[in-house]
Order: sequence, then C-alpha cells, then structure tokens
Amino acid sequence: MKYDLPSISNQIISKINKAKKEYTPCETKNGTCFFPNILKDLGPFKDGITHEMITAAADKGTRYMIFNHDLYRETKCMFPARCEGIEHFLSKIQLNTPDVEFILNTRDWPQIIKHYGDPKPVFSFSKTDDYADIMYPAWSFWSGGPAIKLHPSGLGRWDSLRKSILKQSEQWPWKNKSSKGFFRGSRTSEQRDSLILLSRNEPELVDAAYTKNQAWKSDKDTLFAPPADEVSLENHCQYKYLFNFRGVAASFRFKHLFLCKSLVFHVGEDWKEFFYQFMKPWYHYVPINPNASEKDIKNILLFFKEHDDLAKEISERGYRFIRTHLRMKDITWYWEKLLQEYAKLLKYKPKLDNELNLVNR
Ligand code: UDP
Repeated sequence: MKYDLPSISNQIISKINKAKKEYTPCETKNGTCFFPNILKDLGPFKDGITHEMITAAADKGTRYMIFNHDLYRETKCMFPARCEGIEHFLSKIQLNTPDVEFILNTRDWPQIIKHYGDPKPVFSFSKTDDYADIMYPAWSFWSGGPAIKLHPSGLGRWDSLRKSILKQSEQWPWKNKSSKGFFRGSRTSEQRDSLILLSRNEPELVDAAYTKNQAWKSDKDTLFAPPADEVSLENHCQYKYLFNFRGVAASFRFKHLFLCKSLVFHVGEDWKEFFYQFMKPWYHYVPINPNASEKDIKNILLFFKEHDDLAKEISERGYRFIRTHLRMKDITWYWEKLLQEYAKLLKYKPKLDNELNLVNR
C-alpha cells in the first residue's frame, strides 16, 4: 500500500525527531505539573481583582464564595449537574482555601474576549487564545458531562472511567488492535466531516460515523446518513488510531482516548482545557490541520500504518502522560492551587451576603 506523497514521510519523521529532542517533561511540583497554566491565566489580573470587577463579571456565570472554609453559592446555576461536578472538588479543598469569591461560567463557551475592555475575571472550562477566561478543570471530571445513551445522566466520573478504559486497553495490546482510524460522536463541529466522508469512501481504512445528540432533527445533522449507534469509550480501545476534534468548545473525549494506549490524532489545536499545553504534538499525539482534506488524512494514516513502531511509541507517551499526570488528585490539586493564587490577587476581603447559600455536601 503506497500513499501519493512519499515526501510527507520524511517531513513527519523529522517532526517526530524534533519533538523528541525539544521535549522537556512536565516538571512535577507538589505532586503535579500544571501550575504554569495557572500563572498564565491569571496574568491579565496581575494588578489585582477588585470587588467592582467581580460585580461587572457577575452576569457571566454563577457566583461562588469560600468564606471561613465554608463553601457558598448563589442560587442560580444554569446547569445544576455541572455545578455539582465542580462542587465535588471545591468541597474537598475548602479547608485549605483562604476567603475567596469568583464567577464560574458553566456554559461550554468562554465569555471574555481578550483586549475588549478591561478584563473581567471569569472561570471557564475551555478557551482559545482569543479569550481571557481563567481555565478550571471541567465539571465532567465528576458529573454533568454530555448525556448520551451510554451515559444517560451525563458523562462524568473520571475516576471510574479511568479504571474501566485502562482495563479494556489491557484486552487490546497494540498488536491485536485493528489498524483503522476510529471516531464516534455527533456533528458538533463541521471539522469532523472530512473524516466521516473518508470513512464512507474507504471503510477499510477508517470507521467514523455521526451519532445523534439532543439537537438532532434530521439526517442532515448526521451528514445525510442515518445516525450510527454509540460506541463506549472503552470500546474505542480496539482501534489503533483514535480521532479527537473540537466540539462546541474543547471535547471531553480527548483525555479518555489516550488511556486506550492507541495513537491519538488531535484535529485543530485552538480549543484548550487547562492541561492541553503540557501535551506536545508529534510527541504525545499526532496533530491534524482542521482544514485537512480526506486525502491529507488518508496520507497520514497510511504513513503510520507503514511506520507502526513510531505510532506505538507516540501512543505510549500519550498514555503515560494522562495516566501519570491527570489523576483525580491532580484535578483537586489544580483547583486548590488555582484558588490560592487567585485569592492572592483579591484587593478586598470577601463578605457574605444574603444571595449566597451554604453548599452542604
Ligand atoms: N461519546 C461516546 N460514544 C459515542 C458518542 C459520543 O463515548 O458513540 C462521548 C464522546 O467521547 C464525548 C461525548 O460523548 O465525550 C460527547 O460527544 P459528542 O461528539 O456528541 O460531542 P462533543 O462533546 O465531542 O462535541
């Protein structure tokens, strides 16, 4: 089997070698290594956060306060299951957190466009470099992720999914995996279309299909084909090449795919969660241009089919990263450090008011 552009082979090999040479491991301090992202996100607020800035940001999300080591929240929360997923972690750190008040956005979309007026401090789960939101670990590490048939009350519980996907990955050692590209998900972004079309044209190379989500109205929403059955994240492990794409914002799928010890193809690098910048293209995953054509995707898949040793090597590095750096305790740690650093910037002492209710967990 030959691909059209043998020259891409040398380019890819040199990119992989360069990534290996330049990689500096995520430096672990106090048990985990994501601290630089906290400093980066808080950079725009280095002159301090006033009570007026919080008031100006109030309509962008839900107001939380940790006061005297108790957790409080205003009644309004646009997505209660998401607030619950976040409060799971806040309740674990409230005893180690100084008094602090913050606005937390539970929508998918970030809220604060950079360089558009004074920055307002708003916590969001995902953003691109065009936004000044402060990233926090998504609710779906515990609860409130997308409700799909396989997870009717919402994808969540990273602790149990970690275990079940790891167990399944052991059933599918590299040599037994099918050498196919694989994707299942809904059409939350058109960037997914090229892979779906490639799968329809070359089903022996790619198995990718659109599933129904809650917004599905007709076959148009599954690119003019009937919706495919969902496939559990555990069952992704039987394939060598797993695709991730942005959805409305970053997709929760990303972190799960690595645990299969399969090679992750990450399409487009604009949308990030708090840990993405510590994972490197060509070292932990294969980056794919969001405008890649069917032919481009086919060529890169053919390259890795012919260079199985390189595919396996990258898959193992991606797996090790998520396995060792993205544990439940790392998520708790991130929340704790984020709020401790944020609290240092507050120029006022938070005071309880009658809009805040004690969160009892
Ligand atoms: N999902 C899944 N199996 C499927 C379809 C979706 O496990 O067959 C998961 C997927 O990994 C993601 C979530 O459900 O974490 C939502 O996927 P979807 O593609 O609908 O939206 P996204 O959040 O990726 O935009």
